Amino acid sequence: MSETVRVALGARSYDILIEAGALDRAGALLLPFAKRGRLVIVTDAHVAETQLPRLAEALASEGIVQETIILPPGEGTKSWAVLAELTDRLLALGIERSDHVVALGGGVIGDLVGFAASILKRGCGFVQVPTTLLAQVDSSVGGKTAINSAAGKNLVGAFHQPSFVLIDPTVLDTLPPREVAAGYAEVVKYGLIDDADFFAWCEANGPALLAGDPAARDRAIARSVGAKARIVAADERETQDLRALLNLGHTFGHALEAETGFSDRLLHGEGVAVGMALAFAYSARRGLCPASDAAQVAAHLRAVGLPASLEEAGVRAPGEVLVGHMLHDKKMSSGTLPFLLARGIGQTFVAKDVDLADVAAFLDEQA
Ligand code: NAD
Ligand code: ZN
Repeated sequence: MSETVRVALGARSYDILIEAGALDRAGALLLPFAKRGRLVIVTDAHVAETQLPRLAEALASEGIVQETIILPPGEGTKSWAVLAELTDRLLALGIERSDHVVALGGGVIGDLVGFAASILKRGCGFVQVPTTLLAQVDSSVGGKTAINSAAGKNLVGAFHQPSFVLIDPTVLDTLPPREVAAGYAEVVKYGLIDDADFFAWCEANGPALLAGDPAARDRAIARSVGAKARIVAADERETQDLRALLNLGHTFGHALEAETGFSDRLLHGEGVAVGMALAFAYSARRGLCPASDAAQVAAHLRAVGLPASLEEAGVRAPGEVLVGHMLHDKKMSSGTLPFLLARGIGQTFVAKDVDLADVAAFLDEQA
């Protein structure tokens, strides 16, 4: 399967190629971005071991000269310290505005490299080669780039769109299964937002996808990327409610991630899975959505091995504490906290009238 999705943003439009094996012909695909026949690749140590050799060989076969920067894996890499080191190293390599830096890795590498590209020489080019399911279906598309700061996650960043996104689903063969499942939560999210047919497809095909079925995996990636590309083209900077819909499950999820210290105890996608189940349960409790839809969402998440409750996430904190974490969330604007709620599967909306004391009481009932 080979599919190209275009993100329509006028002069900044770009293509996303989804093709099994595309990494092995990255030489031809990335040649147009290799100024003077050279590319700088930034990756992390895990990806350097598993997927970098494929990219390096493909680029070499087209005679592209390569410089490679290998960073430590993990969320800690999205920091001021690593950003400073990375920009210094790229400048030392003589990076120009017309150059493209290649981000080979998951969301951590993509977010960091994209942000570095946005500030280097007041903005140089970059290409995303996402290597996690989460990065393929979500973070590599849309131009949100960021690092974390003492005040919280993703609070320092910029909108900076890539010039090209190369998605090769076969790179997921070396990704740990727990990371694949976490990324799958973001796939389910697209169905829950506005595509009940896709959620039904997920129910039918999700277990096969997680068992490694390439056809199901490629289909899910293409459909998710298509949804994200449409949303980004219509609301690039989240000035309307549309792009905010992508935060379904994230307000609850971030609170759980904060409570577990943004550690391996709960991966981002796992937090989103519980968050989506909670958003539907809370919507049902308020009479906005049928209880059967909320039960169906939780059942599907569990069927693929994702957590769907506070207990399954290993979180035992009072509702008030979790709401306190939410108030640190970057989506808080002028003292109110927008929540993504649902009228049913495929019918998510932004609610701006949510009473936080009521959310805390709801969370206490769930514990
Ligand atoms: P990650 O980049 O940390 O990758 C997860 C782990 O998998 C790491 O240990 C990594 O080294 C390893 N890995 C990656 N690809 C591999 C492969 N093919 N084989 C073997 N190991 C591999 O995590 P992630 O889940 O991809 O991304 C999370 C980050 O993405 C967070 O910082 C989050 O804030 C960000 N994010 C950004 C956006 C956006 O729109 N920019 C959207 C969602 C999430
Ligand atoms: Zn997410």
